[in-house]
Amino acid sequence: MSMHELTQNDEDNLVFMVEIIRQMNARGENPGTGGNYSYRPEKSKGDFLMISESGVDKGVFGREHFIGIDEKGEVLPLWQKPGRKSSAETGLHLMAYEETNANCVLHSHSLESLWFCDLFPGKDLIDITGLEMIKAITGFTTHEETLYIPVFENSQDIASLSEKARKTIRHAPGFLIRGHGLTCWGNSVWEAKRHLETFNYLFQYFTKRS
Ligand SMILES: [Zn+2]
Repeated sequence: MSMHELTQNDEDNLVFMVEIIRQMNARGENPGTGGNYSYRPEKSKGDFLMISESGVDKGVFGREHFIGIDEKGEVLPLWQKPGRKSSAETGLHLMAYEETNANCVLHSHSLESLWFCDLFPGKDLIDITGLEMIKAITGFTTHEETLYIPVFENSQDIASLSEKARKTIRHAPGFLIRGHGLTCWGNSVWEAKRHLETFNYLFQYFTKRS
């Protein structure tokens, strides 16, 4: 039996993620080849992740566009093809799996996430309180708690961006990159989806109100 085996539950989760990616594309969150998504298979010991292949238009993204990578982001033999590679932003996913109990990571280029950052120039931790939807973020039980969302300047140096994000990982199941987008996660595909939709809802609240 392969050490990089996918269970039926994994297959179901990956098909569900394809549906989420198509929904995100329909909402304009990942135009063209933007955005990337990953999943930790049930039998993975941290050395096996499924991630979206780089350069695939998200409007036609399918199950076959998930490829297996190791803990360093290298494509595993079973999925190797000439020119095939995982996203340039794979390092951000790897960091989230290393530091949290995430089993699914979603990266969105939603316009609301960019506009939300623009409302808070110079801030590296944006605080949100008083909104009922905060409770949709795991760990929050009342609207009176404060959610702190880390924000970083955009950079093509993913390694340094990952290290910055690692230091703030305790604040929220996600972080923002200015002019770029949102990375968020959950311990299941459902939880990651809920967090993505909640963050986008909160971003819309502030950007449409302003
Ligand atoms: Zn991106």
